[in-house]
Amino acid sequence: MGTLIKNGIVVTAEGENIADVYVDGESISAIGTGLTAKNNDEVIDAAGKYILPGGVDQHVHFSFTYKGSKTRGFETSNAAAIGGTTTVIEFINQEKGKGLVETIDDYRKTDADGIAMVDYAFHSVMTDPTDEVIEGIPKLAEAGYPTMKLFMAYKGQFFHADDDAILKALQKGKEAGVTVMVHAENADMIDTLTKQLITEGKTAPYYHAVSRPPVVEAEATRRAIYLAELADAPLYVVHVTCKEALAEVKAAYTRGQKVFGETCAHYLVLDTSDLAKPGFEGAKYVCSPALRTEEHREALWEAVDRKWLNAISSDHCGFDYAQQKHMGYGEGNSFADIPNGAPSLQNRLNILWTYGVCPGKLSRSRLVDLYATTPAKINGLDKKGQLAIGFDADIVIFDPTYEGIISAETNSEGVDYSPFEGFEQKGRAETVLLRGQKIVEHAKYIGYKGQGRLVHGKPFGAAYQW
Ligand SMILES: [Zn+2]
Repeated sequence: MGTLIKNGIVVTAEGENIADVYVDGESISAIGTGLTAKNNDEVIDAAGKYILPGGVDQHVHFSFTYKGSKTRGFETSNAAAIGGTTTVIEFINQEKGKGLVETIDDYRKTDADGIAMVDYAFHSVMTDPTDEVIEGIPKLAEAGYPTMKLFMAYKGQFFHADDDAILKALQKGKEAGVTVMVHAENADMIDTLTKQLITEGKTAPYYHAVSRPPVVEAEATRRAIYLAELADAPLYVVHVTCKEALAEVKAAYTRGQKVFGETCAHYLVLDTSDLAKPGFEGAKYVCSPALRTEEHREALWEAVDRKWLNAISSDHCGFDYAQQKHMGYGEGNSFADIPNGAPSLQNRLNILWTYGVCPGKLSRSRLVDLYATTPAKINGLDKKGQLAIGFDADIVIFDPTYEGIISAETNSEGVDYSPFEGFEQKGRAETVLLRGQKIVEHAKYIGYKGQGRLVHGKPFGAAYQW
């Protein structure tokens, strides 16, 4: 039995037109006009609706632990599906003394396999850069995990990486086509400013942003670019949030260096005024890098439109407000003890559509490229992120007429707040197919636990090719 989606407006990274899409088994087997159904095929009338590829969210944290607090895991990945995302890529911090591949495999078996409700892949995060671990980087490519991240921020935490580790990762990674990503913030600058602010009694959530201003991100971004130049390796900068860091990425790319970057939905619509909300409310918006001011937001919209940045992720981090965000904030503690990150798994497409496409900041094609097509290419997922023959039938039927309000109470992230609480939402994923199976109908998840499957990435992803 196949599925025929009739008369929708098919949107790809290249353009859009009214067409039918035929799904045979798990793949797309035809796109064209006047396609006819065979016996027993399900026919979906999509007239007036947009047909988008399922989203690929290359920046998700289901396993992040910050000072003893752990985020929600794959048991909430149905929220991705409802938000039009059919593949998530999760960062796995290497356990000390364990191999990179081994850490991912162990986590995967207990926390993702048989639980995930959308397809999933992994990035390694190297935390223990011994010679043996560095030598083992090519094994990531063989195992189907061809990307790794290093944290330049977070001085004193076990996952912090120094320049030595980054340089070696870049050198070794390129032998096997492993794409190295960095969280670019200068750890020492943050550490110094944080201590000074706390001494001055400036401990409220807002000071999180003061402790890590744009120059902190720009410096680390530039340094990572120099390290990549020295290693002659491509570099991917995750969550670029400010004009200064953006300028570094753009300048490197313009010089001919293979340097690329993403931003995240919250940096496009939230700003430091959210962090300044009264009482402890600002803690909801404590994420790193910090939220910026409006001028940076506008620069990011321009950057994603003009292809200076090539992906928009969620950086989803499901920490509860009532318990976890407060936990680190007892007597004598400060903004520095608040778990970093915010939940946004379900609302990436909603935010981009409502605040990007609707006001004309992004074309629909550009949106598709940023939220699905390019992230798949960067990560070597060669069957994901595109509406094309032979690709996985991960398909979103998007109803542009829906209007609603975003709220944690009605979403499925399993977290007690949303940073987008009260935001208007225009349009929604009405039906979602995962490899040909309907997992969302009438905007409700109807799939099952364990329906998601591990997707192996191929090495030498797009950062090596462009
Ligand atoms: Zn992150």
